[in-house]
Parts: sequence; C-alpha cells; structure tokens
Amino acid sequence: MNFNLTGFPTEAPGSEQTVNVLILGSGPAGLAAALYAARASLAPVVLAGMNLGGQVSLTHMVENYPGFPEGVGGSQLVELFQKQAEHFGARVEFDTATEIDLSSRPFRVKTYVTTYLADSLVIATGADPVHLNIPGERELTGRGVSYCATCDGWFFKDKDVVVVGGGDSALEEGIFLTRFAKSITIVHRRDAFRAGAILQKRAAEHLKIKFLLNSIPTAIIGENAVVATRLKNVITGEERELPTDGVFIFIGHSPNTQLFKGQLAMDERGYIQTDLLMHTSVPGAFVAGEAGDPNHRQVITSAGMGAAAAMQAIRFLEELSH
Ligand code: NAP
Repeated sequence: MNFNLTGFPTEAPGSEQTVNVLILGSGPAGLAAALYAARASLAPVVLAGMNLGGQVSLTHMVENYPGFPEGVGGSQLVELFQKQAEHFGARVEFDTATEIDLSSRPFRVKTYVTTYLADSLVIATGADPVHLNIPGERELTGRGVSYCATCDGWFFKDKDVVVVGGGDSALEEGIFLTRFAKSITIVHRRDAFRAGAILQKRAAEHLKIKFLLNSIPTAIIGENAVVATRLKNVITGEERELPTDGVFIFIGHSPNTQLFKGQLAMDERGYIQTDLLMHTSVPGAFVAGEAGDPNHRQVITSAGMGAAAAMQAIRFLEELSH
C-alpha cells in the first residue's frame, strides 16, 4: 500500500479510480465545490496540489469574508472550508494532476499517484500573481511584500508604500491603498500607463499618490520587514534606494490552466472561457474561481463560483443518469 503526503493510504501507482466529481484545486472555489458536491452524496475528490488553500492560505487576515466580523486568518479559513467539505464526504488528496484528457468521458486525469476516471470535472486551479523575481521579494512576502491590497492594505495604516505596475490593477489597488497609507509611490517601467484613462486621472489627482516612471525595482531590502526598495531608472541606468514600509506588486496574473491548452476554449491570456453556469467548452467540465475569472479575485466570489460549478456538475450527472 502507498501513502501520499497526508499519510493516508492511496492507490498503487498506475491504478485507476472512478469518481463522480473530480475537483482540481483546493482554494475557496475548489473547497466550496467540494462542499456542494459532497452534500449531494457524490463523494467528490479534491486534488489539493502541494499548497492547500492556494493564494488565500498566504493571506494573513481575511476581513471581507462574511460571517467573520473580527476577520479570520487565511489558512484558518481554508482549514474550516476543508473540514466542512470532509464532514459531508469529500476527500482531499495532496496530489497534483500531471496529464488531463478531456477528449472523451469519463475524463482521464493522471496524477503523481494514480489515474482518475471522472464523470465530471470542476477546474478550480486558480491563478498566481506574476512575480518580479528580484532579491528580497520571496523572503519578504507577508512581511511587507504583498500581491493584494484588499487583503493587506489595512496593515499599512500611515505607512509609506510602493506599488509596482502600470496596468488597471496597479492604479486601482494604488488608489485603494490611499485609504490607509500615508503615501503611495507608483513605480512603472515606462512613461505611459496601460491602465484606463479614468483610473489614470483619479490616481494623478490624488494627493497621496506620486509616480516614479521609467523605473523598475531591482531588490527589496529588509531583515524581518521591508525597509526600502532599490530602484533603477531604465533610461539612465542610475540606481537608488527608496525607503518604504511595503511593496505591492501588480504586474499581472497568470492562470494555472496550462494542462488544458488545446482542450478548452481560453482567452489570449489563458483564462478558461465560461458563462454564468460555469460551463467550459467541454460538456461535463466546469470552471470556478480565478482560472476563469480575471476580474474579481476574492474569496467570496471564488467560493460562489465553486458552489455554482458543483451545482451544475450535479445537474449534469443527473441528466446523464436519465
Ligand atoms: P496588466 O494589464 O497586464 O498590467 C501589468 C502591468 O505590469 C503593465 O503596466 C506592465 O508594464 C507591468 N509589468 C509587467 N511585467 C513587469 C515587470 N517584470 N516589471 C515591471 N513591470 C511589469 O495586468 P493587470 O493590471 O493585473 O490587469 C489584468 C487585466 O485585468 C487587464 O485586462 C485589466 O484591464 C483588467 N483589470 C481591470 C480592472 C478594472 O476594470 N477596474 C481592474 C483590474 C484589472 P507595461 O505596461 O510596460 O507592459
């Protein structure tokens, strides 16, 4: 008998397991889908990957998920989601899909441990923020480096922060940070913004916001917390250190949908195309959360989409059985 990383016995490699609903991803979308499918007695299996909870598990405090007036830790919320789904019969496996074949049903999903034959699929693989990949970024994530102003802005009350990026996210989140921070310096690598005109105007008119153009961060500095960022002027090559308490990075997101390329309709950025019923271009495969939604990126919206995707999977299986 084999054991996965949870210590629970699993099937021998090369074996096949048949499941009604296979859920890829264990963020709010995946675990909400698991709860709904479990409550329909479908014994769903969640492939959690190696990082249970996805992005939210890295968030210190979630203060905008209804039902928690004092806020709730990101990893604590994920544990509660998991516990609730398992209570009704969902199974969470710390395993990762490596190959997926959607050309016929049951769908074949190969993992490190086994192969699942799934009558329906909920794709909740999420998206990851694009990183700058500069020294100090990884080490100081959660200690002043953030990819989510909505999640972490509150911790920067009366502080000086840097926002990196020139798209809608950078400007929108920069404007959001004016609620808390004393000053926001938006650092952008060009002298023209990608963001829409209205956001540019609002940011330019805000007294707390300054712009540093033609500049890129080359390092984030600090021991246990961010104290400065090193910036390079891309035209002159000149480098200098800017003291700051936080660095918010908004240089785009990348959906985790590579395994579905060529199998599902996607937009040019790799987001899976969907509709209000969470359908994908393949019947029986549904998408929930950030793998199909570049716009909201909130626990509540992803969880809502997960519930909706599971409800549609339940309906799909019912119709199939008739
Ligand atoms: P985005 O539009 O792709 O913008 C990313 C920004 O980061 C760009 O300004 C880019 O610079 C910069 N950048 C990329 N790589 C970089 C690097 N390595 N170093 C420094 N800067 C880098 O991403 P987004 O702002 O997250 O927006 C994603 C999508 O969501 C867009 O379609 C956007 O319109 C939409 N969105 C809409 C709203 C809204 O309507 N309210 C809000 C948020 C997002 P360059 O400009 O030089 O390429």
